[in-house]
Amino acid sequence: MLESEPVCIHCQVSEEAVPLVTLLYQGKPLYICAQHLPLLIHDPAKLIGSLPGAEQLKAYRQDG
Ligand SMILES: [Zn+2]
Repeated sequence: MLESEPVCIHCQVSEEAVPLVTLLYQGKPLYICAQHLPLLIHDPAKLIGSLPGAEQLKAYRQDG
């Protein structure tokens, strides 16, 4: 992936098309679009393959 063009880690949409949220992870900037930000919070398992180490992330749950 080219570092020069930020794209969503999940759908590869560019910031030309939609707002991207910048993440810092393992010392590197990553980008995720607003549409897929909830995945990172609620269902990070869906990012396995897109986000290194996603399988170790835990989903946020309101009921604890
Ligand atoms: Zn996306």
